[in-house]
Amino acid sequence: MSKITHHIPEEMLRAYAAGTLPQPFAVVIAAHVSLCDACRAAVEAESVLGGALLSELSPATVSEGARDRLFAALDSAPPAPPQQRGSGIFPAPVMEALSGQPPRWKMLGGGIRQQILSADGEGSLRLLYIPRGRAVPEHSHGGLELTLVLQGSFSDCEGQFGVGDVEVAHDDVDHQPMAGDAEPCICLAATDAPLRFRAMIPRLLQPLFRI
Ligand SMILES: [Zn+2]
Repeated sequence: MSKITHHIPEEMLRAYAAGTLPQPFAVVIAAHVSLCDACRAAVEAESVLGGALLSELSPATVSEGARDRLFAALDSAPPAPPQQRGSGIFPAPVMEALSGQPPRWKMLGGGIRQQILSADGEGSLRLLYIPRGRAVPEHSHGGLELTLVLQGSFSDCEGQFGVGDVEVAHDDVDHQPMAGDAEPCICLAATDAPLRFRAMIPRLLQPLFRI
């Protein structure tokens, strides 16, 4: 696997550990965490820290030994649970979203395919397949988009993203991800609002594809 260079922002890992993220984002982060030792360690530390702090919150005053116990708890953090089994390029959280089945791609045109894994009030989660060297239509976001690379790579104005990398695109990012030349790029993407495509035809098709 290529070296992961784009990680989950710390505040997002904290929200993930606390279980407060919308489900589509939580799945992308779970999938990244299953591939990334650094973020997995951060989530584990966050969970221990959160638990230790909660246990100190009642009674309201923090005892003198609290700090020592907190660091002791961090030192004695339980070992990482055995990694769940994924299948091929799909980490376990993605296989779960796929109900254990291989993707059932829908053609979007231009060789681009997708499978919507979930779409509801919390946002949407989908797999995207971009042929090598192809770009997805330029779009901006009504909200936040997290994209995790599962195969191949893509690049856009924000940089280059290989397997395991996550792009965090806020609503001010207007980008056109292009797949690398080596192999088709397969990504897992979560949004909390519909994408806003620029070109007329993709905009007309948007309700059909629910992207
Ligand atoms: Zn990471």
